[in-house]
Amino acid sequence: MTKYDFIIIGGGIIGMTTARELAVRGASVALIDKGKLGMEASWAAGGILSSMRPWTENPASAELSEHGKIFYPRYISSLVDGTGIDPEYVKSGLIIMESNHIADIKRWASSKCIKVKEKIEDLNPDLKLPDQAVFLSEIAQLRPPRLLKALRKSLKQLSVSLYENTDITNLVTRDGRCEKVEFNSGKLSVESVIITAGAWSKLVLGDRANDVNIKPIHGQMMCVKPTESKLNSIILDGGHYLIPRQDGHVLIGSTMEDIGFNKETTMTAQEELQDWAASVWPNLKNARLVKHWSGLRPSTDAEKPFIGMVPDFKNIYLNTGHFRKGILQAPSSAKLLADMFSGESSFMDIGEFALNRQTNQTEIVR
Ligand SMILES: Cc1cc2nc3c(=O)[nH]c(=O)nc-3n(C[C@H](O)[C@H](O)[C@H](O)COP(=O)(O)OP(=O)(O)OC[C@H]3O[C@@H](n4cnc5c(N)ncnc54)[C@H](O)[C@@H]3O)c2cc1C
Repeated sequence: MTKYDFIIIGGGIIGMTTARELAVRGASVALIDKGKLGMEASWAAGGILSSMRPWTENPASAELSEHGKIFYPRYISSLVDGTGIDPEYVKSGLIIMESNHIADIKRWASSKCIKVKEKIEDLNPDLKLPDQAVFLSEIAQLRPPRLLKALRKSLKQLSVSLYENTDITNLVTRDGRCEKVEFNSGKLSVESVIITAGAWSKLVLGDRANDVNIKPIHGQMMCVKPTESKLNSIILDGGHYLIPRQDGHVLIGSTMEDIGFNKETTMTAQEELQDWAASVWPNLKNARLVKHWSGLRPSTDAEKPFIGMVPDFKNIYLNTGHFRKGILQAPSSAKLLADMFSGESSFMDIGEFALNRQTNQTEIVR
C-alpha cells in the first residue's frame, strides 16, 4: 500500500495550498476530496483579500490575514509563472460604507499605518454613498475559480497524488495515532494526516476532538452584468458587498444563513441581494443575472481557524475553520503549518490557533 508523508483530507483552497507548501518542501503528499477539487466554499467565494470588519478582527486572525495579504503577490506570480493561469489578482481598493463605524475604522487604520481616503465621490460617480465612507486603496481581490485551477495544475506539476470523488468515511486510530484512512473505494496507510475539510471537518474528525466546533454557514452570491458604466472598487456595506471584475461583471454578496448542510439558492435571497445592490449602485437595477450560487463557510466559535495538532493524537493535524477569510488566509495558514512540520520558526506563533485553547462562547458567528 502506498504510504505518503502527508495525507490531506479536503481539497478546497486550504487543502490545496497546504499540499503545495508541503510538496514544494519535498514531502510526498496525497490530497483527497469527496468531490472534484475546489468545488465547495472555495469556488463560491468572492475573493476579497480583506476581512469584512478588519477593525474588530480577533488579533491572531488579523495577523494571519495580514500575512495572507503580504504573501499573495509573490504567491500569485509564482503560480502564474508555473502554470500560465492568471487568477486576476488586482488592487481594486475597498470602499467601506459603514458610517456608524468610521471613527473605529480610522483608529484601526492609523494603528496599522493604512492610508484612508475620505473624499471618494469621484472614484465611482454613480454610487449612492452615505455621508461618511472611506476608501482603502491597498485592498486586493482575485478570482477564486481561477486560483483553484492554477493550484490544481501546480499540484500536478509537483507530483501531488490527487484522489477525487473519494469520500473519507473513517480514520482508523489506535494508541493515539491514525493508522489508516478509509474511503468509499479503499484505504491508505498514514504517516501524518491533515484535515482541511472546511465545513465538514468535524464530521471527518468524529468524536476525536469534541472541542472542534465547526459548522456550515450558508452564503449565497450572484454574478450580474450591468448594462452601463463600470464599477471601479469593491464596496462593503455590513455583510453585503459588490466586487467588480475586470471584464465588467459584478458579484453581489452575500447571505449568512445557519441552516446546516443545505446549499439551496432562493429567490428571497436573490431579491434581497438585488435590492441592496440597486440601492447602492442604481446601475445594477436592470443588470442581467448571469449566475446565482452558494457555498458553506466553515465557521468556528472563536473567530479564528484551528491550525495544528489534534490533542491526544500524534499524527492528526487540522488546518480548517477559516469562515469568511479562507481565500485571504490560505497561503499564510499553509506556511504556518508547514513551518511547524519543518521545525522552523514562523511569522507568528501557531499556538494561537491550537485546539485546546480557551474559546469565548459569546463570540459566536458574526
Ligand atoms: C458566498 C461566499 C463568499 C466568500 N467570500 C470570501 C472572500 O471574498 N474572501 C475570503 O477570503 N473568503 C471568502 N469566503 C470564505 C471562503 O470561501 C472559505 O473560508 C474557504 O473557501 C474555506 O476553504 P476550505 O478549503 O476550508 O473549505 P472548502 O472549499 O469547502 O473545501 C473543503 C473540501 O473538503 C471536502 N470534503 C469534505 N468532507 C470530505 C470527506 N469526508 N472526504 C473527502 N473530502 C471531503 C469537500 O468536498 C471540499 O472540497 C466566502 C465564502 C462564501 C460561501
